[in-house]
Amino acid sequence: MPQIPSAFIPATAHATYLCRIAAYTAVAISLVWLGYFIWSKEWELAASLIILAVTTLPCWILAMRGLFFRSLLLAQIACLLYVFFFCYRYDISNHLFQRTTHLYIPVIALIGYISYQQTKSKVQIAIILTSLLLFILFSSNARFLSINNITAHQFQALGAWMNPLLATTLFVGVIVAMHTDFSKRKTSVKAIQNALYNDQFILLYQPVVNLQGRVTGAEALIRWNHPSSGLISPAVFIPDAQEAGIMPLIGEWVISQAFKDLLHWQESAETRDLTVSINITTDHFMQPDFVRKLLHQARMNNVSCHQVRLELTESVFVSEPHIVAAKMDELAAAGFRFALDDFGTGFSSLSTLRKLPLNQIKIDRSFVTGASINNKGVVIARNIARMGTELGLEVVAEGIETPYQWTMMKEFGCTVFQGFLFSRPISSTDFTDLVASNSLNGVE
Ligand code: C2E
Ligand code: MG
Ligand code: MG
Repeated sequence: MPQIPSAFIPATAHATYLCRIAAYTAVAISLVWLGYFIWSKEWELAASLIILAVTTLPCWILAMRGLFFRSLLLAQIACLLYVFFFCYRYDISNHLFQRTTHLYIPVIALIGYISYQQTKSKVQIAIILTSLLLFILFSSNARFLSINNITAHQFQALGAWMNPLLATTLFVGVIVAMHTDFSKRKTSVKAIQNALYNDQFILLYQPVVNLQGRVTGAEALIRWNHPSSGLISPAVFIPDAQEAGIMPLIGEWVISQAFKDLLHWQESAETRDLTVSINITTDHFMQPDFVRKLLHQARMNNVSCHQVRLELTESVFVSEPHIVAAKMDELAAAGFRFALDDFGTGFSSLSTLRKLPLNQIKIDRSFVTGASINNKGVVIARNIARMGTELGLEVVAEGIETPYQWTMMKEFGCTVFQGFLFSRPISSTDFTDLVASNSLNGVE
C-alpha cells in the first residue's frame, strides 16, 4: 500500500480524532459529576446524566458504522438539550454565582460549523442557529429561562471555575483542529497543483469487455504518481481538487492524454476501433466553455468522437438539468457517447434519464458485490439492470471480480463488463499489448 502524504489525510480523520478526544473527556467528566451527584443524593441530576449517557449510545453505534456526521449531529442535539435543561433548572445566576454551563453552547455551534463545511445539512444550520440563540438568551440571564432552585448553589460553586476552564479549552481545541484542517487542505491543494505542472499524473486503462469477454474499449482512470509515495488513488485527491476548484484543469489534462492514447491505438488493427471512457466531474462539465474546449481538443487531436464515451454521475442532473441536456445534445450531435456512472447510488429520476442522450448506465460495484452476498442484493442488482434495459440503454456491470458475478450479471441483462476478473487498470502500452495478445484474465 502506498503511503498517503499527511496533507491528504481526509479532513474527517482529524475531526474524528478531535471528537474522540472530546468524547473521552466528556465521559471522564460526566463520571466525576455522576459520582458527586450520587454522593450528594441528587437523584434527579444523576438520572439526567444517565439519560444523557444512554442517548449518546446511538452516537457510538453510528460512529462505529462509519456514519460519522450523523453520529455528531445526534451528539450535538443530545448535548444541547442537556445543557439547556441544566441551565434552565439548576445553573441560574444569583448573588453568589454567575451561570457558567451555557459556555459549552458556542462549542456545540462551532462543531456544527465544522461539520457543515463537510456535509451541508439543514438540521446542522438549525442546530447552529438554536445554539447561538440559546447562548444569547442564557447570557442575558432572562428570567423566563430560569426556575429558582436553591439546592443548585453547591453545584454552581463546583462549576464556577470548572465550566469556564473546560469550555474555553474545548473552544481552543476546536479552533486549533479547524486551523490544522484548513492549513493541511491548503498544502494538499498546492501539492495537487504542483503535480499537474510537474507531470506527475498518469492515466491507466481498465479494459471493458462484451458478453463474449472480448475487449471493446477501456476506461481511463487517473493516478498521481507521487515521487515519494508512489501511485495515489483518485479517491484521495479528487475531493480536495474539487473543493479547490482545480478539477476542471485536471479533467482537461485527462481528456488531452486520453485523446493522445486513443490516437496511438489507431496505429494497430486490434485497437483501432476501441472506445475510451473518460470520467467527467460535474464541476468540470458545468464549466461554461466545456463543450467548446472539448470539441476543440477533439479536432486538434483528430479524434473520432464516436469512440469517446463521457462518464457522468447522477450529481450532474441535480441542478440546471436544462443546461446539462443542451450540452449533452450538442456533444451527442458531434458523435460523443454518454454513460451514467455509479448508477443506483444517486437520485436521478427515470423521467430525467429518459430525456437525455444516454447510451449506457454503469451499475455501481457495490450492487454487484451485494448481489453475490444475499438475496436482497440479488433483487436490487436485477432491478437496477432491468431499469436500464427498459430504458433501452446498454447496461454495464462494474467491479466484476469472480466468474460467478460475471454469470449472474449476464443473467440480469448486462451486456458490458468491467472488473478485476478481466484486468486491473494498466498503462496504455500494457493495454494495447493485452488486446494484441488477447490474453485477458478470467476469459477462456
Ligand atoms: P469509477 O469511474 O466508478 O471507476 C471504477 C473504479 O472501480 C476504479 O477505481 C477502478 O479501479 C475500480 N474497480 C474496477 N473494477 C474493480 C473490481 O473488480 N474491484 C474493485 N475493488 N475495484 C474495481 P479508481 O481508479 O480508484 O477510481 C475511483 C473513482 O475515481 C472512479 O470511479 C471515478 O469516479 C474517479 N476517477 C478516476 N479517474 C478519474 C478521472 O480521470 N477523472 C475523474 N473526473 N474522475 C476519475
Ligand atoms: Mg467511471
Ligand atoms: Mg463507477
